[in-house]
Amino acid sequence: MNVNDSEVILSVLQDNGYALTEDIEEADVILANTCSIRDNAEQRIWGRIDQFKIQKKKRNVVIGIVGCMAERLKDELLKAVDIVAGPDSYRTLPQLLEAVRPDAPQINVLLSHEETYADISPVRMDKNGISAFISIMRGCNNVCSYCIVPYTRGRERSRDAHTIVREAQELWANGYKEVTLLGQNVDSYNWEGQDGNVNFAQLLEMVAAVNPGLRVRFSTSHPKDISDEVIHTMAKHDNICKHIHLPVQSGSSIMLDKMRRKYDREWYLERVEKIRSVMPDCGITTDVIAGFSGETEQDHQATLTLMEQVVFDSAFMFAYSERPGTLASKKYPDDIPYDVKTARLNEIIALQGRMSLKSNEKEIGKVMTVMVEGPSKKNKEELCGRASSNKMCVFPSRGEQPGDICQVIVDSVTSATLICRRLD
Ligand code: SAM
Ligand code: SF4
Repeated sequence: MNVNDSEVILSVLQDNGYALTEDIEEADVILANTCSIRDNAEQRIWGRIDQFKIQKKKRNVVIGIVGCMAERLKDELLKAVDIVAGPDSYRTLPQLLEAVRPDAPQINVLLSHEETYADISPVRMDKNGISAFISIMRGCNNVCSYCIVPYTRGRERSRDAHTIVREAQELWANGYKEVTLLGQNVDSYNWEGQDGNVNFAQLLEMVAAVNPGLRVRFSTSHPKDISDEVIHTMAKHDNICKHIHLPVQSGSSIMLDKMRRKYDREWYLERVEKIRSVMPDCGITTDVIAGFSGETEQDHQATLTLMEQVVFDSAFMFAYSERPGTLASKKYPDDIPYDVKTARLNEIIALQGRMSLKSNEKEIGKVMTVMVEGPSKKNKEELCGRASSNKMCVFPSRGEQPGDICQVIVDSVTSATLICRRLD
């Protein structure tokens, strides 16, 4: 999401005469697009600000912090940098840059109920030119008790469906072969157009119809909201990739209630069952938080048993990081000792390693349709690319280019990769 936001920022700035440089020594303006989701993300940015200040000592350079950390820390950051701009204020960056003076730093952290940057064509910063992000909504209305996002990104708003389709059409016309629709909770996408509402399943259909050759992915799904209609729509279209990122956070219904996730263990398992009954080969990945407030050993074990039951393909796994201002920071003490949290996280990571291997082993002998991303990192004679399920495949090259489609058969696996031979 931040990559896509940076692309929006670049578009706004290019329209105002700025150009991108990858060389920090050459830059007149340095902007860091930031994340506040966990404390360590913010700590890294403080480190970067110190590096930027070294540049400032050498020459007259403007330093700006944009995104969630700008929104969260506001005036505190303004003491350290020249520009502070929140996620809804990117259109005003040219004015902020115009107004900034050594003794007059500039700030805009107003959150909006409407801003979706719908009319801005992001300037793609990816290198391969085949895969692009499309933001379909902004903000979040689910106040999960541990999460800072609703405070930094504001209320949920859905972007005009026609501008989303137009962006996908433009990408296809420019040679892109894959789009990923982005939102904090894509299942609650609901755009009210003049000719009626468009929900997420309908939006998926509209984007899939842009071209049968365009692969469509999306993230993130919320277990409480993912509907049968979305699952059936995915199944109906070959070009909608069969992968759902479905963050569970915990396997304990007590923790889920305290996290305010609005589903319990049974509900989550039922959704997984439903997905697999309609799309048996659908990839399912997740996010897990270890050591949330009051988590007992029994709660932790419930997370492990759920992971064993579901056998996720992969997972993002985090130690709980208390975020100031969230409901949990006010109501629930961050009371799991650091070493217990770390031990639980390590156990979760180790188990997921075994589950990823198990999930991959099931693919041996199966045929995969893979979109080439480029040469494999380990062997230039081989290519790598993702199957519909989002699993990474490695296979011998016959000179194909990024974006080409190959049919392969899985020979052997590691926990991270399917090692394949050519079928064609
Ligand atoms: N909107 C998505 C959802 O609800 O699943 C995910 C949003 S968040 C950017 C990505 C992940 O960060 C979450 O799924 C959660 O696992 C993790 N996360 C959020 N707040 C956290 C916190 N305070 N401490 C640790 N991990 C956190
Ligand atoms: Fe945060 Fe929950 Fe919204 Fe995801 S759904 S962004 S975890 S508040």
